[in-house]
Amino acid sequence: MRDFDFLEPATVHEASHMLADLGDDCRAIAGGTALMLGMRQRMLTPTHLVSLARLPQLRGIGFDAKNGLRIGALARHADVAASPLVRQHVPVLASMASRVANPQVRNQGTIGGNLCYADPSTDPPGCLMALGAQVVLGSSRGERVLSVEEFLVDYYVTALEPDEIVVEIRVPPLAAGTDGVYSRFLRTAAEHRPLASVAFVARRDGLLCREARIAVGASTPIPVRLRRAEAFLEGRSIDERTVHEAADIVAADIDPVSDARGSADFRREMVRVVARRTVAGLFGLTNIQGVQE
Ligand SMILES: Cc1cc2nc3c(=O)[nH]c(=O)nc-3n(C[C@H](O)[C@H](O)[C@H](O)COP(=O)(O)OP(=O)(O)OC[C@H]3O[C@@H](n4cnc5c(N)ncnc54)[C@H](O)[C@@H]3O)c2cc1C
Repeated sequence: MRDFDFLEPATVHEASHMLADLGDDCRAIAGGTALMLGMRQRMLTPTHLVSLARLPQLRGIGFDAKNGLRIGALARHADVAASPLVRQHVPVLASMASRVANPQVRNQGTIGGNLCYADPSTDPPGCLMALGAQVVLGSSRGERVLSVEEFLVDYYVTALEPDEIVVEIRVPPLAAGTDGVYSRFLRTAAEHRPLASVAFVARRDGLLCREARIAVGASTPIPVRLRRAEAFLEGRSIDERTVHEAADIVAADIDPVSDARGSADFRREMVRVVARRTVAGLFGLTNIQGVQE
C-alpha cells in the first residue's frame, strides 16, 4: 500500500477544508472497511486520509417523536442493530443492520461509510429508502438535506460534493400501525453480501394495507422504489393472490444488473421470490404457496 498522511480534523468545517484543499489526492475515512480494501488492491491511492473519528457531530443515535431517529454517520452497523432506540422505534432497521456482512464488518463499518461508498451489493440503502430516510451533508458552506433517493446517484456515485461529508441520517417516525420487513437473498451461505433485497414498510389494519413503501436493493445499480406495486397494494386486503401479483409487479418494474454473481434474469426471479416473502411476512401470511424458504 502506498504511504499516506493521516489527518485528524476536530470539526466538520476543518474536515471540509482539508477535503477541498487536497482534492482528488485525499479521501475521508470512517471505519475503513471499504476504503482500506481499495487501497490494498491499489484501486485507490490517496496521499492523505481525513479521519472522521474525532468529529462529535457524527456520533450518537437519538430519537424524538417529531423528527424520528437521528443516526450519526459514524454509527457502526452493530450500534444500529443494538440501539434500544432503533429497536423500539424502527425495528426493521435494527433487524436489517444485525444481518449486514459478518461480526467483524458490523463492528467496524459505519452506516455513513456504507452510504458514501454506494456499493450496490449492500443492505442499508434499500431499507433506508423504504423508510423515507434523509441524509444530512455538512461542509464549510453549511448543511443540506437530501432524501436517500437524491443522495444515491448511480453505481458507486453519490451526490456528495468533494468538500462534503455525511453528518447524519434521519429516519422519520413511523405512523401508528406501520411495520416493516427487510429480506435479503444470499447466493451461498458463505457469501456475505446480498444478491437481492426487498424492504417493505406498510401501515396496516389487520390484512388491509393502507400505505405501502417498497424498495428493491442489491440487484439494481442503486435501490429503487416500486411505486406501481405500492399503488397496487394500497387499499387492498392482502391474500395469497395479492402477494403474488404485487411480487410480479416488483419483478417486472426493476432493471437488474448482470454480472459474475448473477444474470439479470436470475436476479429478477430472486427479487420476485424475496418480494413475495417480504409482503407475505409483514401480513403474517407465511404459510401461503411460494413464500417458504
Ligand atoms: C467482507 C465484507 C463484507 C461486506 N458485506 C456487506 C453486507 O452484507 N451488507 C452490507 O450492507 N455491506 C457489506 N459490506 C460493506 C460494508 O457495509 C461497508 O464496507 C461499510 O459500511 C463501509 O463503512 P466504513 O465506515 O468502513 O467506510 P470507509 O471504508 O471508511 O469509507 C468508505 C467510503 O466512504 C467515504 N466515507 C466514509 N464515511 C463518510 C462520511 N461520513 N462522509 C463522507 N464520506 C465518507 C470514504 O471516503 C470512502 O470513500 C461488506 C464489506 C466487507 C469488507
